[in-house]
Amino acid sequence: MEQLKLLVKLQNIDWRINEIAREKEKMPLKFEELHRSLETLEEDFKKVMENERHLQKKKRQIEMDLDEMSEQIKKSKSRLLEVKTNKEYRAMLKEIEEKERLTSDKEDEVLDILEEIEKLSSEIHKKRHAMEAIKKRHEKEKTKLEGKMVGLEKELAGLSIDRDSLVKHIDPKLVNRYNFIKQRRNGTAVVAVKDAICQACHMNIPPQVYNELQRGDQIMTCPNCQRIIYWGNHKDFVQEGQVLNPKSK
Ligand SMILES: [Zn+2]
Repeated sequence: MEQLKLLVKLQNIDWRINEIAREKEKMPLKFEELHRSLETLEEDFKKVMENERHLQKKKRQIEMDLDEMSEQIKKSKSRLLEVKTNKEYRAMLKEIEEKERLTSDKEDEVLDILEEIEKLSSEIHKKRHAMEAIKKRHEKEKTKLEGKMVGLEKELAGLSIDRDSLVKHIDPKLVNRYNFIKQRRNGTAVVAVKDAICQACHMNIPPQVYNELQRGDQIMTCPNCQRIIYWGNHKDFVQEGQVLNPKSK
């Protein structure tokens, strides 16, 4: 009975060790997720900035064209005074009108671009704020994860010490048997039988076997899953409070 109690303790420690190992495995993935979500935001931000730069360039180009055209119009107007024939005069007037029309079109285009740039600027402003907020949140999250990782490592070191000292008090043959079953049964070698039901494989234990189990004077195994079993309704074990690890069935 004492040996069985120690085995139950050992099982509890090993479950926790497995759980910690699984949590540790998930950690790099969590860091990766954080990193990726920020990367997507940054790419999006870069695109909007690029768009804005492109529009500014286009605007500058049109403004240069406008300057040139206004220069040309000025010249044409001054030449208008030197023109001799009516025909020439009308032709030149037409040319000036054409250029003024073009100027007006281009000025409209600049206004549209300015409006577009204004929209983009406010978008850039919003996106920058959002990105900074998320960056801050990520830093916090990262620190939290790192702290959790340190906590897990500490707990693991403690469990390892507990396990070593516990194993010293268990018959080595029994430890070997425990390890053997644990390896083949998904991390669970010792399991409670409550109300005649094995809590790992959920099969009914035959009444004869269940009666023997309740006497608790020998190490017994589940006839179905071959795990070492103990009577979970016994007051000592109820106090031990072994909880069946749901992931190790
Ligand atoms: Zn079983």
